[in-house]
Amino acid sequence: MTAVLTALTELLFPTLCLSCGEVLSERREHPFCPDCHAGIRFITAPLCPVCGIPYPVEEGPDHVCGDCLLKKTHIGSARSLGVHESVLLDAIHAFKYGGNLTLGERLGRLMAQHDYPAFRIQDYSLIIPVPLHPRKLRQRGFNQSVVLAREISRRHGVAMDFRALRRIVDTASQTGLKKKERRSNIRKAFSITGPERIRGQNILLVDDVYTTGSTLGECARTLLKAGAEAVGALTLARAIQEPS
Ligand SMILES: [Zn+2]
Ligand SMILES: [Zn+2]
Repeated sequence: MTAVLTALTELLFPTLCLSCGEVLSERREHPFCPDCHAGIRFITAPLCPVCGIPYPVEEGPDHVCGDCLLKKTHIGSARSLGVHESVLLDAIHAFKYGGNLTLGERLGRLMAQHDYPAFRIQDYSLIIPVPLHPRKLRQRGFNQSVVLAREISRRHGVAMDFRALRRIVDTASQTGLKKKERRSNIRKAFSITGPERIRGQNILLVDDVYTTGSTLGECARTLLKAGAEAVGALTLARAIQEPS
C-alpha cells in the first residue's frame, strides 16, 4: 500500500529539478537534473583547511593560504558545498528572496549529505545557524540559515540551537563593502543569550553564503569569547575572489 501511495504521489507531484524545472526521472537524492548538476562547481581538495578556499589546481596537498597565515582567524575550519555562481547562485536567490522554502529544505539536504574534504559534521557538538536581526526576520518571514541547519542537524543527529546567538545590531547591507569595511560594519553585531549553552561546545555555524567570512568570523569571535571550545563553519556556497 505504501509503495502504491508513493508511486501515485510521484505521478501526481513529480520531483522537479530545482534549477530548470525538468521532471527528475528516478528518485534522485540530488535536487538537480544531471545537466544542472554538472553546472555546479563543487569545492574539492586541494584547499586551505582553515578558510576552505580551493586552489586552482587538480591535485596537490591541502595547505594554509596566505590570508589565513597572516591574520588571526576565529573559525578553525570552514567548508562550502560549491562556488557561488550560476545554478547554485540562482537557487539560493530563489530560496532566500523568492521565499521558496521547499527549495531551501532540498538545498539543506544536499548540503547535509555531501562529503567535505577533511571535514566531518559529526565532529561538532552543536549547530548554530547565523541569526538574522529580528527586523530582517520579520521582513523575510524566515531565516534561510535555520532552514539549512535544520536539515543538517536532522541528518547527522547533531543538536541545533537557533536562540543561543542573537543579532543585536541591524547592520547595513554588506553588499558593495570591502573586506575591511565589512569587518568593522559587523563588529559587535551579535550577542549570546545563554553562555551555559555555548560553554565547552564544538560549534558548527551554518549560513547560506560565505563571502569574505567577516559575518561568520564575528559570530565565531562572539562564541569563543562566551566559552565555546572551537568554531567551524559550513555554507552552501562560497564566493571565490582574488586574494586581497
Ligand atoms: Zn535541471
Ligand atoms: Zn585560508
